[in-house]
Amino acid sequence: MKRLLILGATGSIGTQALDVVTRAPDAFELVGLSAHSGWEALVRQAQEHGIDRLALTDPDAAARAAEQWTDGEVLSGPEGLARLVAESGADLVLNAVVGSAGLGPTIVALSEGIDVALANKESLVVGGELVTALSEATGAHLIPVDSEHSALHQLILGERQGTIDRLTLTASGGPFRGRTREELAHVTVEQALEHPTWAMGGKITIDSATLMNKGLEVIEAHHLFGTPYDQIDVVVHPQSIVHALVALCDGATLAHLGHPDMRVPIAYALHHPDRVDVPVPRLDLARLGQLTFEAPDPDTFACLRLAREAGIAGGTAPCVLNAANEVAVQAFLAGRLSFLGIAATIEATLEQVPGTRVHSFETLYEADAQARAVAADVVAQEATAP
Ligand code: NAD
Ligand code: MG
Repeated sequence: MKRLLILGATGSIGTQALDVVTRAPDAFELVGLSAHSGWEALVRQAQEHGIDRLALTDPDAAARAAEQWTDGEVLSGPEGLARLVAESGADLVLNAVVGSAGLGPTIVALSEGIDVALANKESLVVGGELVTALSEATGAHLIPVDSEHSALHQLILGERQGTIDRLTLTASGGPFRGRTREELAHVTVEQALEHPTWAMGGKITIDSATLMNKGLEVIEAHHLFGTPYDQIDVVVHPQSIVHALVALCDGATLAHLGHPDMRVPIAYALHHPDRVDVPVPRLDLARLGQLTFEAPDPDTFACLRLAREAGIAGGTAPCVLNAANEVAVQAFLAGRLSFLGIAATIEATLEQVPGTRVHSFETLYEADAQARAVAADVVAQEATAP
Protein backbone atom coordinates (compact mmCIF):
# COMPACT_ATOMS: atom_id res chain seq x y z
CA MET A 1 0.00 0.00 0.00
CA LYS A 2 1.22 3.48 -0.91
CA ARG A 3 0.67 6.16 1.71
CA LEU A 4 -0.79 9.01 -0.35
CA LEU A 5 -1.39 12.68 0.48
CA ILE A 6 -3.55 14.77 -1.89
CA LEU A 7 -3.11 18.55 -1.97
CA GLY A 8 -5.75 20.60 -3.76
CA ALA A 9 -8.17 17.72 -3.20
CA THR A 10 -11.32 19.73 -3.94
CA GLY A 11 -10.20 20.87 -7.40
CA SER A 12 -10.57 19.37 -10.83
CA ILE A 13 -7.42 17.22 -10.56
CA GLY A 14 -7.97 16.50 -6.86
CA THR A 15 -11.48 15.08 -7.29
CA GLN A 16 -10.44 13.00 -10.29
CA ALA A 17 -7.51 11.67 -8.24
CA LEU A 18 -9.92 10.60 -5.49
CA ASP A 19 -11.89 8.76 -8.17
CA VAL A 20 -8.70 6.95 -9.25
CA VAL A 21 -7.96 6.08 -5.60
CA THR A 22 -11.49 4.80 -4.96
CA ARG A 23 -11.11 2.36 -7.85
CA ALA A 24 -7.99 0.84 -6.30
CA PRO A 25 -8.78 0.50 -2.58
CA ASP A 26 -5.92 -1.96 -1.99
CA ALA A 27 -3.27 0.25 -3.58
CA PHE A 28 -3.48 3.40 -1.44
CA GLU A 29 -3.82 4.55 2.12
CA LEU A 30 -4.92 8.20 2.13
CA VAL A 31 -3.07 10.07 4.87
CA GLY A 32 -4.44 13.58 4.37
CA LEU A 33 -6.14 16.11 2.12
CA SER A 34 -5.87 19.86 1.62
CA ALA A 35 -7.77 22.74 0.00
CA HIS A 36 -7.70 26.51 0.14
CA SER A 37 -11.11 27.74 1.33
CA GLY A 38 -13.68 25.11 0.30
CA TRP A 39 -13.89 23.58 3.76
CA GLU A 40 -17.35 22.00 3.35
CA ALA A 41 -16.27 20.00 0.31
CA LEU A 42 -13.01 19.04 2.01
CA VAL A 43 -14.76 17.83 5.18
CA ARG A 44 -17.16 15.79 3.04
CA GLN A 45 -14.18 14.16 1.32
CA ALA A 46 -12.57 13.44 4.71
CA GLN A 47 -15.76 11.75 5.94
CA GLU A 48 -16.14 9.75 2.75
CA HIS A 49 -12.55 8.52 2.75
CA GLY A 50 -12.04 8.16 6.51
CA ILE A 51 -9.26 10.75 6.77
CA ASP A 52 -8.23 12.32 10.07
CA ARG A 53 -5.85 15.10 8.99
CA LEU A 54 -6.73 18.09 6.81
CA ALA A 55 -5.17 21.42 5.94
CA LEU A 56 -6.97 24.55 4.76
CA THR A 57 -4.68 27.37 3.68
CA ASP A 58 -7.39 29.97 4.29
CA PRO A 59 -7.33 30.45 8.10
CA ASP A 60 -11.04 31.42 8.32
CA ALA A 61 -12.04 28.30 6.46
CA ALA A 62 -9.76 26.22 8.69
CA ALA A 63 -11.44 27.67 11.79
CA ARG A 64 -14.92 26.90 10.42
CA ALA A 65 -13.90 23.34 9.54
CA ALA A 66 -12.40 22.78 13.00
CA GLU A 67 -15.70 23.91 14.58
CA GLN A 68 -17.87 21.69 12.45
CA TRP A 69 -15.69 18.59 12.10
CA THR A 70 -14.32 16.93 15.20
CA ASP A 71 -13.25 13.57 13.81
CA GLY A 72 -9.69 14.73 13.21
CA GLU A 73 -7.23 17.59 13.10
CA VAL A 74 -7.46 20.68 10.88
CA LEU A 75 -4.20 22.47 10.15
CA SER A 76 -4.40 26.13 9.15
CA GLY A 77 -2.67 28.46 6.70
CA PRO A 78 0.30 27.82 4.41
CA GLU A 79 2.29 26.74 7.51
CA GLY A 80 -0.40 24.19 8.26
CA LEU A 81 -0.15 22.85 4.72
CA ALA A 82 3.64 22.58 5.07
CA ARG A 83 3.19 20.66 8.35
CA LEU A 84 0.61 18.35 6.79
CA VAL A 85 3.21 17.40 4.17
CA ALA A 86 6.22 17.22 6.50
CA GLU A 87 4.46 15.10 9.16
CA SER A 88 2.52 12.87 6.75
CA GLY A 89 4.95 9.98 6.48
CA ALA A 90 3.58 9.73 2.91
CA ASP A 91 5.26 7.74 0.14
CA LEU A 92 3.71 10.01 -2.46
CA VAL A 93 2.25 13.53 -2.46
CA LEU A 94 -0.09 14.53 -5.27
CA ASN A 95 0.32 18.28 -5.64
CA ALA A 96 -2.84 19.54 -7.36
CA VAL A 97 -2.76 23.02 -5.86
CA VAL A 98 -3.24 25.80 -8.42
CA GLY A 99 -0.70 28.58 -8.82
CA SER A 100 2.64 29.46 -7.25
CA ALA A 101 1.14 28.57 -3.85
CA GLY A 102 2.02 25.02 -4.88
CA LEU A 103 5.77 25.67 -4.76
CA GLY A 104 6.00 25.55 -0.95
CA PRO A 105 4.46 22.08 -0.57
CA THR A 106 6.58 20.73 -3.44
CA ILE A 107 9.72 21.94 -1.66
CA VAL A 108 8.64 20.43 1.66
CA ALA A 109 7.77 17.06 0.11
CA LEU A 110 11.04 16.78 -1.84
CA SER A 111 13.04 17.94 1.20
CA GLU A 112 11.47 15.09 3.20
CA GLY A 113 12.44 12.67 0.42
CA ILE A 114 8.79 12.11 -0.56
CA ASP A 115 8.02 11.46 -4.24
CA VAL A 116 5.75 14.08 -5.83
CA ALA A 117 3.09 13.43 -8.45
CA LEU A 118 3.12 16.93 -9.87
CA ALA A 119 0.04 18.53 -11.40
CA ASN A 120 1.12 21.95 -10.11
CA LYS A 121 3.21 22.98 -13.14
CA GLU A 122 3.76 26.38 -11.50
CA SER A 123 6.22 24.70 -9.06
CA LEU A 124 8.56 24.04 -11.99
CA VAL A 125 7.85 27.27 -13.82
CA VAL A 126 8.69 29.36 -10.76
CA GLY A 127 11.40 27.25 -9.15
CA GLY A 128 12.56 24.85 -11.86
CA GLU A 129 16.30 24.85 -11.16
CA LEU A 130 16.03 24.66 -7.38
CA VAL A 131 13.18 22.13 -7.44
CA THR A 132 14.97 19.72 -9.78
CA ALA A 133 18.22 20.15 -7.80
CA LEU A 134 16.35 19.34 -4.59
CA SER A 135 14.81 16.26 -6.17
CA GLU A 136 18.27 15.08 -7.25
CA ALA A 137 19.79 15.82 -3.85
CA THR A 138 17.18 13.90 -1.84
CA GLY A 139 16.45 11.18 -4.41
CA ALA A 140 12.72 12.00 -4.32
CA HIS A 141 11.12 11.69 -7.76
CA LEU A 142 8.96 14.13 -9.67
CA ILE A 143 6.30 12.27 -11.66
CA PRO A 144 4.41 14.59 -14.00
CA VAL A 145 0.60 14.60 -14.02
CA ASP A 146 0.21 17.19 -16.78
CA SER A 147 -1.00 15.08 -19.73
CA GLU A 148 1.68 16.17 -22.21
CA HIS A 149 4.48 15.63 -19.71
CA SER A 150 3.06 12.31 -18.58
CA ALA A 151 3.10 11.32 -22.24
CA LEU A 152 6.74 12.46 -22.59
CA HIS A 153 7.69 10.67 -19.37
CA GLN A 154 6.30 7.44 -20.82
CA LEU A 155 7.89 7.97 -24.25
CA ILE A 156 11.33 8.86 -22.92
CA LEU A 157 11.54 6.14 -20.27
CA GLY A 158 12.87 3.50 -22.66
CA GLU A 159 15.38 5.75 -24.47
CA ARG A 160 19.10 6.11 -23.79
CA GLN A 161 20.70 9.50 -23.05
CA GLY A 162 21.64 11.42 -26.17
CA THR A 163 19.12 9.76 -28.50
CA ILE A 164 16.43 12.43 -28.20
CA ASP A 165 16.46 15.22 -30.79
CA ARG A 166 13.25 17.12 -30.05
CA LEU A 167 10.17 17.13 -27.85
CA THR A 168 6.79 18.31 -29.14
CA LEU A 169 3.90 19.36 -26.91
CA THR A 170 0.47 19.48 -28.50
CA ALA A 171 -2.00 22.27 -27.70
CA SER A 172 -5.73 22.14 -28.37
CA GLY A 173 -5.57 25.81 -29.36
CA GLY A 174 -8.36 26.62 -26.90
CA PRO A 175 -11.72 28.21 -27.71
CA PHE A 176 -10.17 31.05 -29.75
CA ARG A 177 -8.08 29.03 -32.20
CA GLY A 178 -8.02 30.66 -35.63
CA ARG A 179 -9.16 34.07 -34.37
CA THR A 180 -7.26 37.29 -35.05
CA ARG A 181 -6.14 39.74 -32.35
CA GLU A 182 -8.93 42.15 -33.29
CA GLU A 183 -11.52 39.42 -32.86
CA LEU A 184 -10.28 38.76 -29.32
CA ALA A 185 -10.60 42.35 -28.10
CA HIS A 186 -14.10 41.88 -26.68
CA VAL A 187 -14.38 38.20 -25.84
CA THR A 188 -16.17 37.45 -22.57
CA VAL A 189 -15.21 35.36 -19.56
CA GLU A 190 -17.90 32.81 -20.49
CA GLN A 191 -16.46 32.41 -23.99
CA ALA A 192 -12.94 32.02 -22.63
CA LEU A 193 -14.11 29.35 -20.15
CA GLU A 194 -15.53 27.15 -22.91
CA HIS A 195 -12.65 24.79 -23.52
CA PRO A 196 -13.20 22.55 -26.57
CA THR A 197 -11.64 19.31 -25.28
CA TRP A 198 -10.67 19.38 -21.57
CA ALA A 199 -12.80 20.13 -18.46
CA MET A 200 -10.47 21.84 -15.97
CA GLY A 201 -10.25 24.43 -13.19
CA GLY A 202 -10.91 28.09 -14.07
CA LYS A 203 -7.33 29.36 -14.04
CA ILE A 204 -5.87 26.71 -16.33
CA THR A 205 -8.89 27.04 -18.66
CA ILE A 206 -8.11 30.74 -19.16
CA ASP A 207 -4.41 29.83 -19.55
CA SER A 208 -5.49 27.46 -22.32
CA ALA A 209 -7.43 30.21 -24.08
CA THR A 210 -4.42 32.57 -24.03
CA LEU A 211 -1.98 29.68 -24.77
CA MET A 212 -0.10 30.69 -21.59
CA ASN A 213 -0.79 27.13 -20.45
CA LYS A 214 1.36 25.83 -23.30
CA GLY A 215 4.01 28.43 -22.54
CA LEU A 216 4.13 27.28 -18.91
CA GLU A 217 4.31 23.70 -20.17
CA VAL A 218 7.34 24.46 -22.37
CA ILE A 219 9.14 25.69 -19.24
CA GLU A 220 7.87 22.67 -17.29
CA ALA A 221 9.23 20.29 -19.97
CA HIS A 222 12.58 22.08 -20.01
CA HIS A 223 13.05 21.42 -16.30
CA LEU A 224 11.54 17.94 -16.14
CA PHE A 225 13.55 16.52 -19.01
CA GLY A 226 16.57 18.85 -19.09
CA THR A 227 15.83 19.70 -22.72
CA PRO A 228 17.10 23.01 -24.17
CA TYR A 229 14.34 25.42 -25.22
CA ASP A 230 15.30 25.31 -28.90
CA GLN A 231 14.52 21.58 -28.87
CA ILE A 232 10.98 21.94 -27.50
CA ASP A 233 8.23 22.55 -30.07
CA VAL A 234 4.53 23.33 -29.76
CA VAL A 235 2.00 22.23 -32.36
CA VAL A 236 -1.71 22.97 -32.29
CA HIS A 237 -3.82 19.82 -32.49
CA PRO A 238 -7.51 20.63 -31.92
CA GLN A 239 -8.64 17.03 -31.24
CA SER A 240 -6.27 16.59 -28.24
CA ILE A 241 -5.74 12.92 -29.13
CA VAL A 242 -1.96 13.07 -29.60
CA HIS A 243 -0.56 14.41 -26.31
CA ALA A 244 3.14 14.67 -27.11
CA LEU A 245 5.84 13.45 -29.48
CA VAL A 246 9.50 12.58 -29.13
CA ALA A 247 11.78 12.76 -32.17
CA LEU A 248 14.79 10.43 -31.96
CA CYS A 249 18.20 10.67 -33.60
CA ASP A 250 17.48 7.86 -36.09
CA GLY A 251 14.56 9.71 -37.66
CA ALA A 252 11.85 7.84 -35.75
CA THR A 253 9.20 9.85 -33.91
CA LEU A 254 7.23 8.37 -31.01
CA ALA A 255 3.77 9.68 -30.18
CA HIS A 256 1.46 9.16 -27.19
CA LEU A 257 -2.26 8.99 -28.01
CA GLY A 258 -5.52 8.67 -26.13
CA HIS A 259 -8.84 10.37 -25.52
CA PRO A 260 -8.42 13.51 -23.39
CA ASP A 261 -9.21 12.33 -19.85
CA MET A 262 -7.00 13.43 -16.96
CA ARG A 263 -7.70 10.23 -15.03
CA VAL A 264 -5.24 8.50 -17.38
CA PRO A 265 -2.17 10.60 -16.48
CA ILE A 266 -3.35 10.84 -12.84
CA ALA A 267 -3.60 7.02 -12.58
CA TYR A 268 -0.21 6.69 -14.30
CA ALA A 269 1.47 9.03 -11.79
CA LEU A 270 -0.23 7.56 -8.71
CA HIS A 271 0.36 3.91 -9.61
CA HIS A 272 3.78 4.35 -11.22
CA PRO A 273 5.61 2.08 -12.00
CA ASP A 274 2.48 -0.11 -12.17
CA ARG A 275 -0.32 0.37 -14.67
CA VAL A 276 -3.98 -0.18 -13.91
CA ASP A 277 -7.25 -0.24 -15.85
CA VAL A 278 -8.86 3.18 -16.30
CA PRO A 279 -12.49 3.30 -17.48
CA VAL A 280 -12.04 5.58 -20.50
CA PRO A 281 -13.11 5.02 -24.11
CA ARG A 282 -10.54 3.14 -26.17
CA LEU A 283 -9.06 4.79 -29.23
CA ASP A 284 -10.72 3.97 -32.56
CA LEU A 285 -8.71 5.79 -35.22
CA ALA A 286 -10.96 4.81 -38.14
CA ARG A 287 -13.89 6.29 -36.27
CA LEU A 288 -11.97 9.48 -35.47
CA GLY A 289 -11.10 9.72 -39.15
CA GLN A 290 -8.81 12.73 -38.99
CA LEU A 291 -6.22 14.22 -36.72
CA THR A 292 -5.13 17.72 -37.72
CA PHE A 293 -2.14 19.88 -36.83
CA GLU A 294 -1.21 23.52 -37.35
CA ALA A 295 1.39 26.01 -36.18
CA PRO A 296 0.44 28.28 -33.25
CA ASP A 297 -0.16 31.95 -34.07
CA PRO A 298 2.42 33.84 -31.97
CA ASP A 299 1.00 37.30 -32.71
CA THR A 300 -2.52 36.61 -31.55
CA PHE A 301 -1.39 34.46 -28.64
CA ALA A 302 1.44 36.60 -27.27
CA CYS A 303 1.51 34.67 -23.98
CA LEU A 304 3.18 31.71 -25.66
CA ARG A 305 5.99 33.95 -26.92
CA LEU A 306 6.32 35.74 -23.55
CA ALA A 307 6.63 32.43 -21.71
CA ARG A 308 9.26 31.08 -24.05
CA GLU A 309 11.26 34.32 -23.77
CA ALA A 310 11.04 34.26 -19.98
CA GLY A 311 12.12 30.62 -19.93
CA ILE A 312 15.15 31.38 -22.08
CA ALA A 313 16.04 34.46 -19.98
CA GLY A 314 15.91 32.22 -16.89
CA GLY A 315 16.60 33.50 -13.36
CA THR A 316 13.53 35.10 -11.83
CA ALA A 317 11.91 35.89 -15.23
CA PRO A 318 9.62 32.79 -15.31
CA CYS A 319 8.59 33.51 -11.70
CA VAL A 320 7.68 37.10 -12.64
CA LEU A 321 5.84 35.87 -15.75
CA ASN A 322 3.83 33.41 -13.67
CA ALA A 323 2.95 35.87 -10.90
CA ALA A 324 1.84 38.51 -13.42
CA ASN A 325 -0.24 35.89 -15.22
CA GLU A 326 -1.97 34.82 -11.99
CA VAL A 327 -2.86 38.42 -11.18
CA ALA A 328 -4.03 39.12 -14.74
CA VAL A 329 -6.14 35.96 -15.02
CA GLN A 330 -7.80 36.68 -11.69
CA ALA A 331 -8.58 40.23 -12.88
CA PHE A 332 -9.96 38.91 -16.17
CA LEU A 333 -12.18 36.39 -14.37
CA ALA A 334 -13.42 39.20 -12.11
CA GLY A 335 -14.29 41.36 -15.12
CA ARG A 336 -11.58 43.93 -14.34
CA LEU A 337 -9.33 43.23 -17.34
CA SER A 338 -9.90 42.50 -21.01
CA PHE A 339 -8.74 39.26 -22.58
CA LEU A 340 -5.91 40.98 -24.50
CA GLY A 341 -5.07 42.84 -21.29
CA ILE A 342 -3.75 39.57 -19.86
CA ALA A 343 -0.74 39.41 -22.20
CA ALA A 344 -0.28 43.20 -22.00
CA THR A 345 -0.14 43.06 -18.20
CA ILE A 346 2.42 40.27 -18.24
CA GLU A 347 4.61 42.03 -20.79
CA ALA A 348 4.50 45.33 -18.85
CA THR A 349 5.32 43.53 -15.59
CA LEU A 350 8.29 41.72 -17.14
CA GLU A 351 9.56 45.09 -18.38
CA GLN A 352 9.24 46.72 -14.96
CA VAL A 353 10.59 43.94 -12.75
CA PRO A 354 14.25 43.33 -13.54
CA GLY A 355 15.21 39.67 -13.71
CA THR A 356 17.87 38.49 -11.29
CA ARG A 357 19.72 35.26 -10.60
CA VAL A 358 18.03 32.85 -8.24
CA HIS A 359 20.12 32.25 -5.12
CA SER A 360 17.49 30.65 -2.94
CA PHE A 361 13.77 30.06 -2.64
CA GLU A 362 13.67 33.40 -0.80
CA THR A 363 14.73 35.15 -4.06
CA LEU A 364 11.70 33.57 -5.73
CA TYR A 365 9.23 34.55 -3.01
CA GLU A 366 10.49 38.15 -3.24
CA ALA A 367 10.24 38.24 -7.05
CA ASP A 368 6.75 36.72 -6.87
CA ALA A 369 5.57 39.37 -4.40
CA GLN A 370 7.16 42.22 -6.37
CA ALA A 371 5.66 41.02 -9.65
CA ARG A 372 2.21 40.71 -8.09
CA ALA A 373 2.37 44.31 -6.83
CA VAL A 374 3.52 45.64 -10.22
CA ALA A 375 0.95 43.58 -12.12
CA ALA A 376 -1.85 44.79 -9.84
CA ASP A 377 -0.81 48.40 -10.64
CA VAL A 378 -0.77 47.65 -14.36
CA VAL A 379 -4.24 46.10 -14.14
CA ALA A 380 -5.55 49.13 -12.22
CA GLN A 381 -4.15 51.47 -14.91
CA GLU A 382 -5.67 49.35 -17.69
CA ALA A 383 -9.03 49.48 -15.93
CA THR A 384 -9.02 53.27 -15.68
CA ALA A 385 -7.61 53.82 -19.19
CA PRO A 386 -10.12 55.46 -21.56
P1 NAD B 1 -8.73 23.87 -9.45
O1 NAD B 1 -8.87 25.34 -9.39
O2 NAD B 1 -9.86 23.04 -9.92
O3 NAD B 1 -8.32 23.33 -7.98
C1 NAD B 1 -7.28 23.91 -7.27
C2 NAD B 1 -7.12 23.29 -5.89
O4 NAD B 1 -6.09 24.00 -5.18
C3 NAD B 1 -8.37 23.39 -5.02
O5 NAD B 1 -8.44 22.25 -4.18
C4 NAD B 1 -8.12 24.64 -4.16
O6 NAD B 1 -8.79 24.59 -2.92
C5 NAD B 1 -6.61 24.58 -3.98
N1 NAD B 1 -6.01 25.91 -3.84
C6 NAD B 1 -6.36 27.06 -4.49
N2 NAD B 1 -5.60 28.08 -4.10
C7 NAD B 1 -4.74 27.60 -3.16
C8 NAD B 1 -3.73 28.19 -2.36
N3 NAD B 1 -3.43 29.49 -2.43
N4 NAD B 1 -3.05 27.39 -1.49
C9 NAD B 1 -3.34 26.07 -1.40
N5 NAD B 1 -4.32 25.45 -2.13
C10 NAD B 1 -5.00 26.21 -3.00
O7 NAD B 1 -7.41 23.60 -10.31
P2 NAD B 1 -7.08 22.33 -11.24
O8 NAD B 1 -7.63 22.56 -12.58
O9 NAD B 1 -7.38 21.07 -10.51
O10 NAD B 1 -5.51 22.51 -11.40
C11 NAD B 1 -4.59 22.19 -10.35
C12 NAD B 1 -3.17 22.20 -10.92
O11 NAD B 1 -3.07 21.16 -11.89
C13 NAD B 1 -2.80 23.50 -11.65
O12 NAD B 1 -1.46 23.78 -11.45
C14 NAD B 1 -3.05 23.16 -13.12
O13 NAD B 1 -2.24 23.92 -13.99
C15 NAD B 1 -2.65 21.69 -13.14
N6 NAD B 1 -3.27 20.92 -14.23
C16 NAD B 1 -4.64 20.79 -14.26
C17 NAD B 1 -5.23 20.06 -15.28
C18 NAD B 1 -6.72 19.86 -15.32
O14 NAD B 1 -7.21 19.11 -16.16
N7 NAD B 1 -7.49 20.47 -14.44
C19 NAD B 1 -4.45 19.50 -16.28
C20 NAD B 1 -3.06 19.64 -16.22
C21 NAD B 1 -2.49 20.36 -15.18
MG1 MG C 1 -1.27 20.01 -20.09
